[in-house]
Amino acid sequence: MSSASTTVAPSCSHCGSTCKLHFVTQDYNRRIGDEHFRHYRCTQCSLLFIHPVPDDLGRYYPNDYYYVPESIDFLDKNHGQEKYKIDIIRRFKTSGRLLEIGPSLGTFSYAAKLAGFEANAIEMSTECSQYLNNVAHIPTVNTADTDAALLSLEPFDVIALWHVIEHLVDPWKTMDHIARSLKPDGIFILAAPNPEAFQFKVIGKRWPHVDAPRHLYLIPKEVLVERARMYGLTLESATTDDEGARGWNTFGWEYWLGNFMRDPKRKAFMHGIGKKLARLMRRWDQKEGRGSAYTLVFRKAGS
Ligand SMILES: [Zn+2]
Repeated sequence: MSSASTTVAPSCSHCGSTCKLHFVTQDYNRRIGDEHFRHYRCTQCSLLFIHPVPDDLGRYYPNDYYYVPESIDFLDKNHGQEKYKIDIIRRFKTSGRLLEIGPSLGTFSYAAKLAGFEANAIEMSTECSQYLNNVAHIPTVNTADTDAALLSLEPFDVIALWHVIEHLVDPWKTMDHIARSLKPDGIFILAAPNPEAFQFKVIGKRWPHVDAPRHLYLIPKEVLVERARMYGLTLESATTDDEGARGWNTFGWEYWLGNFMRDPKRKAFMHGIGKKLARLMRRWDQKEGRGSAYTLVFRKAGS
């Protein structure tokens, strides 16, 4: 990384305003390298993002990122933890064509299928896609080009992105394609790390949900709402205190402490302390708007 490429402040990809260097961080979660990553924050809309994006991003997604089981047992055992997501969606849609982008092993897609949705997926990992297609029998397009895949599929009643948007190089383009791929009155549901989180204010650049360089963006809720409006989607529901967010609150404290240790035993010990700390911090983490992740539901205008 040359010093010249790191000193020019980029402008905001959402609102075009000037951005300032917010912090310099490292891959504390996985320690795949000791490179430094520069995070800039927009002075107007507070969008936070890595700049420059490393050109060897694939290196930070090691093979063990995806553990692929052999049978359907894995999904039968684990789909229950996705029930709260299905419950949110059922407030808006109870059946129809559903697409999950970035399902990994597909526990959510499988839960959606069991709940009566016609589940489909777009997934970049070849191993996960084979599992989804051949074992879970969920039609899955195996590609890293989400935008092209969206154009090739029939429109959907529901499109879901669970902790995916923060990984995308161009999230706005994908949101635009998602909006176009929804039927009139269709639902777009997503969850992502919340840069307004209490934990982020306390922990800063070592917050595990910064997850550099895999998370390229931390997007304020308001930016997503504005962006969605540009694509014809309106906000129907928002929370930072669902079951998913609460899980990510605990994860945040655990990994923050654990990441200070290299020795696996000490790491495990600190995770234990982190769990206790998470219990103490509940009253702040569970304040609406301050949880570690938000879940947002948008609706496309009816015909
Ligand atoms: Zn901005």
